[in-house]
Amino acid sequence: METAEIRRRFLSFFEERGHTAVPSASLLLDDPNLLFVNAGMVQFKPYLLGQETPPYPRATSVQKCVRTLDIEEVGKTTRHNTFFQMNGNFSFGDYFKERAIELAWDLCTRPENEGGFGLDESKLWVSVYLEDDEAARIWTQKIGISPNRLVRMGMADNFWSMGVPGPCGPCSEIHLDRGPEYGPDGGPEFDLGGDRFLEFWNLVFMQYERGDGPGKEGYPILGELPAKNIDTGMGLERMAFLLQGVDNNYETDEIYPVLDRAADLAGRKYGDDHDTDVRLRVVADHVRSALMIVGDGVTPGNEGRGYVLRRIIRRAVRQMRLLGYEDHAMPELLPVSLGRMKNSYPELQQEWERIHTVIDGEEEAFRQTLRSGTQIFDLAVDETKKAGGSSLAGAQVFQLHDTFGFPFDLTLEMAAERGLSVDEEGFRRLMTEQRQRAKDDARSKKTGHADLSAFRGIADSLGRQVEFTGYDEVDSDA
Ligand code: ATP
Ligand code: MG
Ligand code: MG
Ligand code: MG
Repeated sequence: METAEIRRRFLSFFEERGHTAVPSASLLLDDPNLLFVNAGMVQFKPYLLGQETPPYPRATSVQKCVRTLDIEEVGKTTRHNTFFQMNGNFSFGDYFKERAIELAWDLCTRPENEGGFGLDESKLWVSVYLEDDEAARIWTQKIGISPNRLVRMGMADNFWSMGVPGPCGPCSEIHLDRGPEYGPDGGPEFDLGGDRFLEFWNLVFMQYERGDGPGKEGYPILGELPAKNIDTGMGLERMAFLLQGVDNNYETDEIYPVLDRAADLAGRKYGDDHDTDVRLRVVADHVRSALMIVGDGVTPGNEGRGYVLRRIIRRAVRQMRLLGYEDHAMPELLPVSLGRMKNSYPELQQEWERIHTVIDGEEEAFRQTLRSGTQIFDLAVDETKKAGGSSLAGAQVFQLHDTFGFPFDLTLEMAAERGLSVDEEGFRRLMTEQRQRAKDDARSKKTGHADLSAFRGIADSLGRQVEFTGYDEVDSDA
């Protein structure tokens, strides 16, 4: 089943059941806590938080999402993209737990010729929050799922909250067992991050309210919400992965053609060698993400969203070089991605001139950076090795950054490929000193993104990467 058909089925299933289909919000929806929209619920937050009256009691959408937090996972796991689409259904004080579970189960297991996804019931597992007996009862008694395929998981995986006062609640996730050839038995709770049990749908039951002031889990739970909400998220790429008989998200119909073209350009065969395969998957993922992010209006830069975009484009270009393709890659790959995405997002075609100009320009700028900095980098590596060191000095990393425009993570990646670590602390110290000097020079000078400065402070104090790579990383610690 093609991705477009999965999207269509999801929306019509919920529309037929009284949900209003709402178009995806822009990736750049204004939200003080987020750099990019990272879930379907983001555009509905005012309704979920009770700040605005929803114009409809139920909604369904396919939301464009970016999760920079997952960037290192891309290509290595079977299931993480930087850009992906989240199918969702939402209830604003309307139906709750039982109906949400019934609807999800119905759509998953309904035969394909009756508008469902036709998944094999005996392969589906569900997880519920440790203390959510109500959900466990609905699954086993109402739905009739075997208790052997229901697992209870803790706060980290099956409890949702925004990390701030407001609604929160347990969730319940649906996983598909891909079979013993992908790992040992034991269920999703033992296979977190593994290849065998694929989490594809998260049902969030917003049922409690957190107050402010620190409690055991950050904020104390005050009690039940007067209006309980449902927020669900099903990864469109993950459902495509399951329904297309392929091995991972990157082999699905919206992404694979880019991978295939990249392999062609580099004269490589996909499936022969693990490292090559990972690189090809990263390229395919990142090219699509760049297309979608620039499509929504971001341009490459050194701060915030622009930096995330820059990093994604440069990673794709670098992987192509490491695969042996040294020519301009984006003009070859981007049109392939456009071809797969423009039916769902016709604005990409209308904006094509602008999009490819921005992305091709960034590739060219990066080639320039590499031309000027690689020699210096090689020299630093040679010196370090000659001196018997195992770590690039902070000053060298700083110089590469400051003089040659090498982003820290690029130096980190390149050093790792040469078997070296880097003195991150020393580098960070020099960066802080430089930042302080800049501050002293121009006290009132503002940074690019309006909300960024406050978060950069948090990121720094958490000791995260010096280059700001997104609010997601801050969120994860919140
Ligand atoms: P995982 O544990 O696999 O990282 P998650 O628990 O972080 O996923 P949720 O926050 O529950 O994901 O998001 C809801 C759904 O969105 C997931 O069940 C999955 O289908 C999809 N999803 C989440 N992250 C990604 C991603 N990086 N790429 C593709 N799909 C994703
Ligand atoms: Mg995740
Ligand atoms: Mg998960
Ligand atoms: Mg989840």
